[in-house]
Amino acid sequence: MPLNRLLWIFDMDGTLTEAVHDFQKIRRDLGLAEDAPILDSIRNAPPEESARLNKKLDEIEWELASLARPAAGIHEFLIDLKERGCCLGILTRNRHDVALETLKQAGLHEFFSEDVIVDRERAAPKPYPDGINLLVDKFSMMPSQAAMVGDFRYDLEAGRAAGTSTIYMDPTGEFPYRSLADVCARDFLELMNLLRQTG
Ligand SMILES: [Mg+2]
Repeated sequence: MPLNRLLWIFDMDGTLTEAVHDFQKIRRDLGLAEDAPILDSIRNAPPEESARLNKKLDEIEWELASLARPAAGIHEFLIDLKERGCCLGILTRNRHDVALETLKQAGLHEFFSEDVIVDRERAAPKPYPDGINLLVDKFSMMPSQAAMVGDFRYDLEAGRAAGTSTIYMDPTGEFPYRSLADVCARDFLELMNLLRQTG
């Protein structure tokens, strides 16, 4: 059963928090092409340009962190998981300090100690499965005991690559990447109901 899992790994932006990241706007602000991968483009730019873009991205990410709001039903869902004795972790492409600030702003920091927040400074970014493997090892579990929860293709691809179950959150209900997901839900109240049906 994809929901009967002991370790729950969450994407942060747009999953634990309401989606405020307009990635097209971020690309425009950075002067990148419309379909350019943001982190890779910055990494592959000439050194001076790369430094300038990184500074600009930092500013954008701090501003977005200050706007963070919790996703609908996430508090109730995390409390439910804790009561079931589940372990929790985060896998984000964001920076460590920005991730901490985002969680604080959204009132979610009490659920996650710093050592379970795997950011882009600690592991290769999704869709690589490295961050999931790191968390699975940390809790001495098997990937088959874990679930990866996210709102984007990279989250689901990382889960598939690591061998966890994949849970796809999309408040619009459109689920364009549903072929990568074991479970689809519009919000955490819906997911909590599905979880309760499994026992
Ligand atoms: Mg996301």
